[in-house]
Amino acid sequence: MKVKILWAIITLCTYNLSFAEKTMNNNPKWTEQVQTVLDVTKPLVYNRGNRLPLFTNLTSDPGQLDDKSAGYLVYELNKRGIGIICSWSPGKREESLSQAMVIARAQQKLGLSVNINATSCMYSFFNGDERTAHIDENGNAFFDTTLWSQKMGCPFAIDFRKQDIREQIEYFARAYENEGIDIGFIWADWEIDGPLEVNGAHETSKKCVRCRNNIKNIDDFSVFQKKIREMRSYLQYYVYSEPILSRFPNALVGNYAVYPHNGYRYWLDYFEADEYVDGQPYIKDHRAKYRTWYNDYPSTGYTYAMPTVYTWYRIFNWYDFDNPDYRWFYNMLLVASNAGKSTPANIPIITFVRWHTTDAPEKPDPNVKQFGSEAYQELLWHMLLRGTDTFFVWCGGEETSEEVRLVHEVYAEAQQYGEFLGKGMPVNFDVPEYPGTVISGLVLRDRVLIRRTDFGTSHKPVEIIIGVQKISVEYAPGICRIIELP
Ligand SMILES: [Zn+2]
Repeated sequence: MKVKILWAIITLCTYNLSFAEKTMNNNPKWTEQVQTVLDVTKPLVYNRGNRLPLFTNLTSDPGQLDDKSAGYLVYELNKRGIGIICSWSPGKREESLSQAMVIARAQQKLGLSVNINATSCMYSFFNGDERTAHIDENGNAFFDTTLWSQKMGCPFAIDFRKQDIREQIEYFARAYENEGIDIGFIWADWEIDGPLEVNGAHETSKKCVRCRNNIKNIDDFSVFQKKIREMRSYLQYYVYSEPILSRFPNALVGNYAVYPHNGYRYWLDYFEADEYVDGQPYIKDHRAKYRTWYNDYPSTGYTYAMPTVYTWYRIFNWYDFDNPDYRWFYNMLLVASNAGKSTPANIPIITFVRWHTTDAPEKPDPNVKQFGSEAYQELLWHMLLRGTDTFFVWCGGEETSEEVRLVHEVYAEAQQYGEFLGKGMPVNFDVPEYPGTVISGLVLRDRVLIRRTDFGTSHKPVEIIIGVQKISVEYAPGICRIIELP
């Protein structure tokens, strides 16, 4: 194996410029999106060591490459600290496996993480089969139709589906195992399927004879949510994390929006109703109603946390701060801090991020101002100083260049503080309730890496307790400082 790695390094080091230029400029073998990422990012100045790469949907599935192009692309993106992800598609098994394997071999040869998107393998428990429906008291089948167009059925009628779904994962996992390829990172976006408690799911389940028989006190939403989330966690463990971890025990396995938290969810996803559902518990903050959330992470078997920190259009009007940037910043930092303080230090946090206003209606209110790019980059810094390990950039179309550039600049610059990022402990999770001074830091032994961002007008030093000492943090816009603790 060592000989193979040496060979790969020699080969890649001797790639000559004419090949690179020809491949990149005249006849790119990979997707346009990948080329955009290559164009807008630069090789890292500070080595990322063994810290996680930056992930993006743009560098997923770069196309059917030959070994040489795959090796070159993996190498070039890795110089920029960016990982390639390949999808497993049960609908086209051989084709997707063959595309993914070329990249996986190149990643393994270079000693890099092999990264997988298992989303398609997770669908669908609710495949429209009448056997998955709820049952009313007259014996009639019915579905919950409040979650987009999915025919969401009865959580107690899908046990027979789990073996088929697990096999969709295992087909690919076996192929990697047989070829001696280790999986480093695998993610899925399993959302609108399986047991769920959001939108009209509770109301629908209450009308189902089978649900009523199985969940005592089903009328109590908290009881219902707990049971549904436990079932949801079990399915993720059974079809996904267990078959992966039994073969690749060191793999990072996770799912979109599944992460440890404090019992509240500060955001709503694309498919969720605009506001909280009447009668369900929440806490109020300004105009926002944050729903209670069941801590489903521990029973999934996942080995990393995957929060979602997006500029959801609707959050802008949850707050009335005069500073429009702080409306975004406040909510998004609440989400990131919630994950940061709830996740043990040995569990990586890989966070989905998106800058352009997300899920805006066809005719958006012109008063909803786009989050400023500088404030967004400040947010990314504070996330890193509150436990986020790396970002997963999610974007498309014309937004691509700017989305990637903004995140990559912060990611690249942050690598100079590698020891803090790798071994430091977050010291502050406070999010000021009104625009003011935001401070985040990572302490490592007797030094603390600090960033201060001001949304108010006062530039006076601010005192903060770090460990058992009070230190003064000076106004220092746009930079991190390292303070020696006295
Ligand atoms: Zn039911």
